Amino acid sequence: MTESAVILVQDLSKHYGSVRAVDGISFTVARGATCALLGGNGAGKTTTIAMLLGLLLPTSGQIDILGEEVPRHRQRVLPRMNFSSPYVDLPQRLTVAENLTVYARLYGVRRVAERLAVLGRDLDIAAFFQRPYGSLSAGQKTRVALAKALLNEPEILLLDEPTASLDPDTADRMRSILTDYQRQSGATLLLASHNMSEVERLCDQVIMLRAGQIVATGTPRELIHRYGRKDMEEVFLDIARGIQSGEVLE
Ligand code: ATP
Repeated sequence: MTESAVILVQDLSKHYGSVRAVDGISFTVARGATCALLGGNGAGKTTTIAMLLGLLLPTSGQIDILGEEVPRHRQRVLPRMNFSSPYVDLPQRLTVAENLTVYARLYGVRRVAERLAVLGRDLDIAAFFQRPYGSLSAGQKTRVALAKALLNEPEILLLDEPTASLDPDTADRMRSILTDYQRQSGATLLLASHNMSEVERLCDQVIMLRAGQIVATGTPRELIHRYGRKDMEEVFLDIARGIQSGEVLE
């Protein structure tokens, strides 16, 4: 493990009967990096993130986060982490402010009202604070989920499709918020995304999964160069279709 690695994954697998959702992956993410976990539908991204959070038990392999073994010492690192996922909803009948307050208390946030005011302003969600969470649009919910993920000023932020369902303008603002947060805090980000321009803009490391295995890694620039393509969108298509670097698609 390199000195600065804050996420260390070794030979990690998750099998469901004959389905190898994650199949022997190993990688590290350095402190302060933004790493993209890419792959087509069913490649194993969400399963990997769930195991990093300690929500799913691996079939085999090892995970160390901030020097602690997960899931065994999950409770020691969870206060220093957070996540957002379109698959995890908040209670619908509570207002946005009530939801965020409950989570803030769970995370042990000290000055809850102050933190909510900052996030309300930064994520432009203050206008919805008194509305039931269930009454929000999909894009508004995504912004609230991001606010929830930033509540405890996490050192490690795991984001499953953080800008899914956002319009291009709002998505762009959310990306700026994430980069600003990272610059100020030095946090490490791991994100699953299907948006390749987002990956080019935010990420300095890419891990490409196919059928539960890592099939390519590198910086976006390295991958674009290696595959002789003009952008990550084209690289993604090559890798997802099983084309080796160096081959040229007609
Ligand atoms: P997407 O981009 O569609 O969200 P993903 O890369 O996040 O996909 P996962 O959700 O991690 O993919 O799923 C990986 C594989 O594991 C898929 O084939 C999925 O059907 C399978 N899988 C996930 N959970 C289970 C489960 N509980 N039981 C059986 N198979 C599962």
